[in-house]
Amino acid sequence: MLTDDELLRYSRQILVPGFDIAGQEKLQRARVLVLGLGGLGSPAALYLGGAGVGQLLLADGDVVEVDNLPRQLCHRQSDCGRNKAESAAEAIAGRNPGVRIEVIPRHLQATDLDQLLPGLDLVLDCSDNYPVRYALNRASRRHRVPVVSAAAVRTEAQIALLDPNREGPCYRCLYPDAGSDTALSCAESGVLGPVVGVAGSLQALEAIKYLSGCADPLGDTLLVMDLASLAFQRLRIRRRDNCPDCGSRA
Ligand SMILES: [Zn+2]
Repeated sequence: MLTDDELLRYSRQILVPGFDIAGQEKLQRARVLVLGLGGLGSPAALYLGGAGVGQLLLADGDVVEVDNLPRQLCHRQSDCGRNKAESAAEAIAGRNPGVRIEVIPRHLQATDLDQLLPGLDLVLDCSDNYPVRYALNRASRRHRVPVVSAAAVRTEAQIALLDPNREGPCYRCLYPDAGSDTALSCAESGVLGPVVGVAGSLQALEAIKYLSGCADPLGDTLLVMDLASLAFQRLRIRRRDNCPDCGSRA
């Protein structure tokens, strides 16, 4: 049951066709991990907190630095030197005190993911390196928790929802080889703030669609956005039989 305060707070989204009070109650029952509170995780976590996702787990081992501030909207100048998950938790709680937030102020290892994922409804992968993405992919398959994955660099962004419960493709089907750690690095290639903001906002949108049931989320497709020309493309992702994480040899 929603209180009068909650009905008022969430009234605009409750009005959206297909969302309704039932959608709000589903959001309030949800437990979601946001992995990384940088350029993607900032808008994603702010929107999920604002929308009333019941429980948010925020994980990041990095501290806020001044060159994060143009795009990592959770963090302020006075947060420099502070852990990003702690800074983000304060930003979210300041907007919606009704959200239960758990701060995990460290880089997650595979063993952490195995402990955290059971009991979660969804994970938002807002990290920026392949080892973490691959570890999360394996944990997602093991514990059957879907992942909304996104990446942004320069003026390009992409997003996919990878759901092991639908027997669809996994992150490793999409990116079989890590290449190098820096392949996704905004530090080396640069990125415009709104580009990563679009990708993080879409992660929150896909999460809200998936959790509330108000619309169909992306299924087995990768949305690729060239934001210089504003060209959007949806590419079908196929499951690879030789995928090391979900193929027949896995
Ligand atoms: Zn796979």
